[in-house]
Amino acid sequence: MPHFDLHCHTTCSDGKLSPQGLINLALESNITHLAITDHDTVAAHRQLKPIDNLGLKLISGIELSSQWSKIGIHIVGLNININSDAILKAEAHLNAVRMQRLERIAYKLEKRGFNNILEGACGEAGDNQVGRPHIARYMVKQGMVNSVSAAFDKYLGAGKVGDVSSLWPALADTVQWINEAGGVAVIAHPGRYKLTRSKRIRMIEDFKDAGGQALEVCTGNQPHGMSEDLANICERYELMASVGSDFHSPDYPWVKLGRYPRLPKKCRPVWESLGLF
Ligand code: AMP
Ligand code: MN
Ligand code: MN
Ligand code: MN
Repeated sequence: MPHFDLHCHTTCSDGKLSPQGLINLALESNITHLAITDHDTVAAHRQLKPIDNLGLKLISGIELSSQWSKIGIHIVGLNININSDAILKAEAHLNAVRMQRLERIAYKLEKRGFNNILEGACGEAGDNQVGRPHIARYMVKQGMVNSVSAAFDKYLGAGKVGDVSSLWPALADTVQWINEAGGVAVIAHPGRYKLTRSKRIRMIEDFKDAGGQALEVCTGNQPHGMSEDLANICERYELMASVGSDFHSPDYPWVKLGRYPRLPKKCRPVWESLGLF
């Protein structure tokens, strides 16, 4: 039986495991098809070699930061050509945007009395893609907050002072990059954005118009009934369905690699279009 996980992270973005560590966990978890989808980078795929012989098919992926209607959203690209001009351009652009965003967040947090955020977050990220989780980790280490989740709840999460999404590329540009790289564009965790159901459907319509092909119908830690609702939306808009845990770390037991609700039967799985079989 194939077992897919088409959304997960490594140390190249905000995950806890190295690319090889994640592969080892995938093998232990009996995953047969794994897409590593770090935020705005394919560095993990540059480090790893295809490992078909180990019984695991690695699919090249990325989770691109984007915006729609002034909110930050995430678009997963699957089966992308990691050496394409479009991906190189997206990585370079988003890397610059991440630094600019960090400067802006650091400035805002400094006005609240928190110092050295820029240097601290960069120190946490090292050579890897810097993001809000690195700011949160630094704030915890400095005793500015008690936990990463408190940092998000108070300062970094949706609607808080550190939620700066205005710099991300527009949804249509993000989808275009993925398609130019030969990949399939998937809206990541569509139920997780702060949107009403009717606005969520408008986002999906705009995504479809831009050339988007699939929704992540099943993700880790998803509210009951969400996958059925998304499956109905897929049917209505002729979109395919993807699945992925959004695994970041073994320290978060509520999201396990390879674990997500069952894909509703009516869905057309995205892997049928990936040329895997
Ligand atoms: P960024 O890519 O820098 O915008 O950071 C977004 C990442 O922060 C997400 O991909 C999650 O991994 C993490 N994140 C978002 N909300 C929370 C939260 N409430 N608690 C912990 N981590 C979070
Ligand atoms: Mn993340
Ligand atoms: Mn995401
Ligand atoms: Mn993710």
